[in-house]
Amino acid sequence: MLAEIITIGDELLIGQVVDTNSAFIAKELNKIGVSVYQITSIQDDKEHILQAFKEAESRVDIILITGGLGPTKDDITKKTIAEYFNDTLVRNPDVLKNIETLWKRYVRQTLLQVNKDQAFVPSKAKVLMNTLGTAPGMWLEKNDKTFIALPGVPFEMRNLITTEVVPKLKDKYDAPFILHRTLLIYGLGESTLADRIQDWEDNLPKHIKLAYLPSIGKMRLRLSSKGFNAKQIIDDVQKQIDAVLPLVVNEFVGFEEDEKSLEAFIGEKLTEQEQTLAVVESCTGGKLAGRFTANSGASAYFKGGMVSYATQTKIDVLGVSKSIIDKYSVVSAQVAEAMAQQARQLFKTDYAVATTGNAGPTKGDADAEVGTVFVAIASKSGVFSEKFIFPQPRERVVNKAISMALEMLQK
Ligand code: ATP
Ligand code: MG
Repeated sequence: MLAEIITIGDELLIGQVVDTNSAFIAKELNKIGVSVYQITSIQDDKEHILQAFKEAESRVDIILITGGLGPTKDDITKKTIAEYFNDTLVRNPDVLKNIETLWKRYVRQTLLQVNKDQAFVPSKAKVLMNTLGTAPGMWLEKNDKTFIALPGVPFEMRNLITTEVVPKLKDKYDAPFILHRTLLIYGLGESTLADRIQDWEDNLPKHIKLAYLPSIGKMRLRLSSKGFNAKQIIDDVQKQIDAVLPLVVNEFVGFEEDEKSLEAFIGEKLTEQEQTLAVVESCTGGKLAGRFTANSGASAYFKGGMVSYATQTKIDVLGVSKSIIDKYSVVSAQVAEAMAQQARQLFKTDYAVATTGNAGPTKGDADAEVGTVFVAIASKSGVFSEKFIFPQPRERVVNKAISMALEMLQK
């Protein structure tokens, strides 16, 4: 089964908005065995849209369209779809009701005509009800081709893809299943890992595809297989690698299905062990805490955090002693460790993690070299810290510091 994705919007072609919709849709389609043949971005322009529809229809079975369904004049996707299908726009009472409900709840102003007009859809379209916004999704069929038009607003589009489009496509095409499973491996470089699993890799069944996906501080191995017994095949080879890796590496931590983040992994472990965590951050400015709270259920283990950014705050609010700071510098192992210990006491947690560093680009008041970061972890068995020096730019130093803090925590 083949699909194409067409994203519509002038903003995409002037570089104002990055097309993230296609990546999301492609991923979701792949999961259900639909391969994406081409992704096209075009302007809000009738002729371009008609041309793109025609070309896509000649190549694939499913055409997914996002954007241009808003109430403004430049959004002409709907009119163009009607023209392409030789159809007229009719008012859909259910869509109008949805618009009125949303309006009452969130806008509380008189409903404008342009918004009411969003209830017009091509008469041949099945409506995909957009409960998060006023622009409805639409499903149209022509011979054996399926056209699906969705709003461009990413969260509205994502909601419609998962609640409406994927279930309907599965029903309609009963597509053969592609399964991807990502194994997360921490603490091994790409070549070391490749070396250690070489035998396993050489003996993989033919219908399994393996991809190495390295990123900062971790390595993902993606196994893919097609067909209805894909899960069984992947389970089997996972069992084999399971048997190989722990024998040869103790840096190895574990692997998980899908792309679970390291912080989610840490969170699960802490929850299981009924242990708690606090963070106190300087150079990472609260972003480390944000990584934990991005996961639902974090309250089970994450008690809170503090951004003690200014030196004086480290002293006055966090309670790090001024003499340690004066003696060793605010960017030092001693201060990072004192921060972690203070946080562990203040928040009454089993673990506390602290970051302090100079993210750059200038040296600032701290005498530490640009890019220097100390990460400390306090627990009931004591406190330890590590020093890192990361390259510029500033954002990269911060992100690296977060990755390393997470890696230290999961050990
Ligand atoms: P507006 O009237 O505010 O411009 P719109 O009527 O153009 O919105 P859409 O075309 O559906 O409605 O797009 C809504 C918003 O969704 C756009 O302003 C854009 O920021 C975002 N958007 C559209 N297409 C994409 C895409 N392919 N990837 C990511 N974001 C997108
Ligand atoms: Mg638009």
